[in-house]
Amino acid sequence: MKNADVRLITRILIFNVTLLVVGIGTFTLFHLQRERQHLFDVSRQHADVLLSTVERSIANAMCTGNTEEVQIVLELVGNSPHLRKVQIFHPDGRVLRSSRATEIGQPVDVRDLQLFRNGERDGIFVADNEEWLSIQSVIRSGSACIVCHEADEEVLGVLGLHVSLAETREQLRATTALFAGSTLIMVVVLVAGISWVLLRFVQRPLGQLAGLMTQVEQGDLAVRAKPLHNDEIGQLALGFNAMVDNLENARKQLQDYHFQQMEHADRLASVGEMATGVAHEIKNPLAGISAAIEVLSEAFDRDDERKSVVDEVLVQIARLNKTATDLLHFGRPGRPEFSHVDINDLVGRTLFFADQHPEAGNVERRKSLADALPPVWVDAKQIQQVLFNIVINALQAMEQGGTLHVATELHEQDGRQWVRIRVADSGPGIPPEAFEQIFTPFFTTKSQGTGLGLAICRRLLEEHRGRLFMESRPGQGAVFTIELPADPVGNNAKGGDDCGQT
Ligand code: ADP
Repeated sequence: MKNADVRLITRILIFNVTLLVVGIGTFTLFHLQRERQHLFDVSRQHADVLLSTVERSIANAMCTGNTEEVQIVLELVGNSPHLRKVQIFHPDGRVLRSSRATEIGQPVDVRDLQLFRNGERDGIFVADNEEWLSIQSVIRSGSACIVCHEADEEVLGVLGLHVSLAETREQLRATTALFAGSTLIMVVVLVAGISWVLLRFVQRPLGQLAGLMTQVEQGDLAVRAKPLHNDEIGQLALGFNAMVDNLENARKQLQDYHFQQMEHADRLASVGEMATGVAHEIKNPLAGISAAIEVLSEAFDRDDERKSVVDEVLVQIARLNKTATDLLHFGRPGRPEFSHVDINDLVGRTLFFADQHPEAGNVERRKSLADALPPVWVDAKQIQQVLFNIVINALQAMEQGGTLHVATELHEQDGRQWVRIRVADSGPGIPPEAFEQIFTPFFTTKSQGTGLGLAICRRLLEEHRGRLFMESRPGQGAVFTIELPADPVGNNAKGGDDCGQT
């Protein structure tokens, strides 16, 4: 993360520097170009003034045909340190007069002749290792000229001079150096400023956040970011703090939940042990008492009033015995004896027994059994016990009458096949607040209930890798769904389950 934000800052810096260099560079080049143009224009103006001066100086001498004086003027002017030469050449390319007397009669420099022939007034060229501005003025024939020249000669000659550009070049060099220096300083100052801002306001807080994130990643949820500025990164730090707060709360809740679950499991384990012990202690004396009371009951005549009291005691002893048996089952369920079982068969047998139950009278019973269900590998007695308990609960929930619907089907989920038994009743249903509790041992809403039935069901299905679901809406009955894996022989031994309500 730290490397990542260093790379980000580097990228932003490179981008900024490039933009600055291109932007300021273009601006500087544009101004340099203008400055150069200006300096050359000034040189051209000076040369122009000089050329006019020479023109005027030789005008009289030319009118009077005094060529000697013309030569003297040219030589005088040509002595100036900034001038290379001053000359008059014939349009045919011959030098007529020149401040360099040796060039008189020689062919004029081709570049000067070219300027004239192209009709251009000035041009720049290099000679004697120096740069010169050549500027020309055409001498045309006038009325005074016919004394020495032919009447049809329109152009009598070309007056030209070579002005040195060394000073202009020097000024240009100084200006360029000044521009380049100031541009460089500007770029350096701007880059330094931007880097400082980026490092202080972006890289530092981001680096701090990245460090804290690593600490959180390693499990330290006590860390919090201190927002350095009230900007987007400050908001990010606050968001980070809120996120860590939430994480810490979630972890606390999870720990509490885990702790409760452990406590619950512990309690269940001890309850199971205690229940088994108590059930053992109760069952043997109960058997003795029951046998004794039966003997007593036989001693009374049929119409003896005391016989009905004794028989009622026998019923209560039978109920106590069932509770003790349930406790034993819950505390130490017997090892399942697996075999291939046809679930439709098992449903049929269970419903037959349930039909004998006193509460079955008012209830309409319906059965929808799926064809060709694969056999399941289960302990038939235990699964029948589960189904029987759920059916009896349903019947008891419909004391005032209703409909019991038992259905079987083959269900496929996550590439696995499950044989399903659904037991639906039209009783009062289960209130949402009891959803969690009904599978807890000893939770019962019945005066004669033990609250162990569904807890035992869940335990037995665990042994079969089966699942138990419950759906219910108050006033609309309850649906209990048992799912058993339709796996090949032996694969559904204990190892995990999903029992609960939806
Ligand atoms: P018991 O039947 O001894 O009460 P169970 O564990 O079998 O114990 O059931 C626990 C509780 O679940 C019942 O007391 C009842 O309140 C609720 N219950 C179970 N089945 C149904 C049902 N079909 N309709 C309404 N309530 C039910």
